Amino acid sequence: MQLYNSLGQTKQEFKPVNGNRVEMYTCGPTVYHYAHIGNLRTYIMEDVLEKYLRFAGYDVNRVMNITDVGHLSSDADTGEDKMLAGAKREHKGVLEIADFYTKAFFEDCKKLNIKYPDVVEPATHCIPEFIEMIEVLLDKGFAYIAGGNVYFDTSKLDSYYVFGKMNEDDLAVGVRDSVEEDENKRNKTDFVLWFTKSKFEDQELKWDSPWGLGYPGWHIECSCISKKHNGEYLDIHCGGIDNAFPHHTNEIAQSESYLGHKWCSFWFHVLHLNDARGKMSKSKGDFLTVSLLENKGYDPLVYRMFCLQSHYRKPLTFTYESLDNTAKAYEKLIKRISALKAEGEADTATADKLLLPFREALDNDLNTSLAITCVYDVLKADADDATKRYVLGEMDKVLSLGLLKGEAEAEDNSDNELSAEIEALIAKRTEARANKDWATADAIRDKLKEMNVVVVDTKDGISWHFA
Ligand code: AMP
Ligand code: ZN
Repeated sequence: MQLYNSLGQTKQEFKPVNGNRVEMYTCGPTVYHYAHIGNLRTYIMEDVLEKYLRFAGYDVNRVMNITDVGHLSSDADTGEDKMLAGAKREHKGVLEIADFYTKAFFEDCKKLNIKYPDVVEPATHCIPEFIEMIEVLLDKGFAYIAGGNVYFDTSKLDSYYVFGKMNEDDLAVGVRDSVEEDENKRNKTDFVLWFTKSKFEDQELKWDSPWGLGYPGWHIECSCISKKHNGEYLDIHCGGIDNAFPHHTNEIAQSESYLGHKWCSFWFHVLHLNDARGKMSKSKGDFLTVSLLENKGYDPLVYRMFCLQSHYRKPLTFTYESLDNTAKAYEKLIKRISALKAEGEADTATADKLLLPFREALDNDLNTSLAITCVYDVLKADADDATKRYVLGEMDKVLSLGLLKGEAEAEDNSDNELSAEIEALIAKRTEARANKDWATADAIRDKLKEMNVVVVDTKDGISWHFA
């Protein structure tokens, strides 16, 4: 598989360090508010990547953190903690807020058919691991203490801007926004590993540490949680493009300085979802959620399809008009698939042939829009319905668009219709017997028998089952 790697900024052959095993890490949500559909674009594309790796035969271990502490309102280590701001907004405790929005996040993921990661770890569960990593960084001379906080010393690195020029541009944005520089920092790119002092309203959650009562910086959590659950070598690290700098850059600085060797081979970044005002952003407060789309009558899988129709490395603009187009296309697609007959066996040679272009599309830097074209090509292909259904089922292991759901729903509905008919007959028979209308009661009994239905008189009333 060829995959674009932000490290090197080229498409490269994806190869895990350890044979068939893929160690994958995903920056999880900051849980001070609902995830917006921009965040979820990132998680949808990461889900497709994970599922395609599994489809290609890899054994994937996917780890995700939950940022329930330490992410300040500015990435430059200034401002209020986002969790504390959320708790104040809703007059609740920080952990209560974290718990509520973590659950809400995974509910949204479920609606979008995003698989639950193999490991989910909240940052607040790993304080001893953070402290250990920071102690080693201090011992090795990669960190220093100033003004009560512990800082990472970026001047000790051979190279800091690992993702190239893009990051320097991002840094310039920070400067333009006139982020107040922390005077304790020796270099402007240094960042906080552990806070004991903040000029902003303090954290609600604090822990004892060798440097005093305090709380961790944002970046340390991902380095530690990945080391804890993925081991010392990471094959692929995922996140939205805004996390490339400074968050991922700082993760690399910490992990490689701590471990003493190269840490992660591939960096997979998803470009932003924008709306008319630009990048959709949680901190702006006014954003679109999955529930909002549902309330407007959209199936969440329509949004998934909307995301898959464009490449993850291109920015995507959300409009209701384009979502409406996807909704129509999705409905038609599901209808066409549900018209395929469910009988017969798939022809495996034909199925393999039909799956080939699908694999090629995804092998080429996860070209999901081409993969969707392959779904339509299957419908047009010269193959029997059983083979088409089998191939679509295989494709859906990766796309997770519920391609065969029309069929399941049709079965469900026909089951429901049948049950309703049987129950109506039983009710009529009961009434006929009550009226001593034996002829009608017997006719209904025969009809039910023909339908293979066994009626049982129990002390709680009449029940039935198929013979
Ligand atoms: P957060 O919960 O804000 O920490 O973000 C969770 C994930 O969503 C991170 O990987 C971000 O990079 C990503 N993200 C944030 N905003 C957007 C957006 N507008 N479009 C796509 N991904 C985003
Ligand atoms: Zn992270």
